[in-house]
Amino acid sequence: MSVVDPTNNCSAQVGLRITSSADLDSFGDRAAARPSVGRRLEDLRVIIYEQFSVASLQRCLCLAPNLVDLDLLLSLPDSDVPGILDNIILPELRFFRTNIPHALLRPFLAAHDRMSILTLDACSSTESPCPLSASHLPHLKCVTGPAPCVSSFVNQGTFRLTMSSPDGACSTSLLLRSLPLPLPSLYALTIDFPANDHDVLLSVVASCSGVRKLKLMEKPSHKCRRGRLSTRRAWNDTTTWSKALLGLPLLEEFMLRTTSKLVQRSGSEDEERKTFVRWTSGLRSATRGQPNHHPALYHIGVWYSADDDDRGVVTHWSKCGQNWCHMSTMLNPPQGYEFI
Ligand SMILES: [Zn+2]
Repeated sequence: MSVVDPTNNCSAQVGLRITSSADLDSFGDRAAARPSVGRRLEDLRVIIYEQFSVASLQRCLCLAPNLVDLDLLLSLPDSDVPGILDNIILPELRFFRTNIPHALLRPFLAAHDRMSILTLDACSSTESPCPLSASHLPHLKCVTGPAPCVSSFVNQGTFRLTMSSPDGACSTSLLLRSLPLPLPSLYALTIDFPANDHDVLLSVVASCSGVRKLKLMEKPSHKCRRGRLSTRRAWNDTTTWSKALLGLPLLEEFMLRTTSKLVQRSGSEDEERKTFVRWTSGLRSATRGQPNHHPALYHIGVWYSADDDDRGVVTHWSKCGQNWCHMSTMLNPPQGYEFI
């Protein structure tokens, strides 16, 4: 258990991280003895991957009524824990991240409709549609979660959207078509796509042409139903790919994760530069034709040759005047590497 602000300064935001069931009980005892300890708490992260008492968790949350930011990442028993968050009311709550199954969240979300950032993990529900599909969170600005569960939360004010498609889904356009388009405020979009969806970028252009930050994450091959994958990717057709990028005229940062090789020699700066110049100018050759430079793009990050254990090459490039400059390369990133 760690207290971010141990100074007892009542005016400062106070945070607490709880990582064990013993920490949970200890905080509950302290806050029960001195209610100001719990009332000062604004930022609480409960990350417990061991058995814990649901009653202790509920006591802890009841003793911290002024929480603004709450993470609940829990190892829940196989049997359902109905009512795990029932009767918990946190009037100031704005940021919420959890892996609690969606069927157990419905009353809690209904009671916290002023939330602005919501991050959900897997659904785990056998119901279709997701039990949360009828929830109404009109103030949400940033949404993360499985597409069938969170697409109903997307609204005209959505600023940042991160969606994963169900296993076996083989079209990004279907994923995007489930949204209430257009999304004029959408600034950042992160979605996954099947390797053989060659229209992935065109689908984004058709749905969210004003996006400024775009991250495309290729799905692992075992999560797509279609048989053996070819090595062909959408960007192999440079002309269509660069035209699609121009169809996102406000795009500033583009990130892509793929299992494909991208270049012949992994980590070759020269080959990477040629690739990205082709993407952003439409030119097949540096000496032929008139370039049609992208007007806003200044950062490209690509994680290529990625496999199920991650690895591969992570390369970042930035625009310097009319040229693309290599910023960094990481070979074989560690497992679980966060591609940002
Ligand atoms: Zn769901």
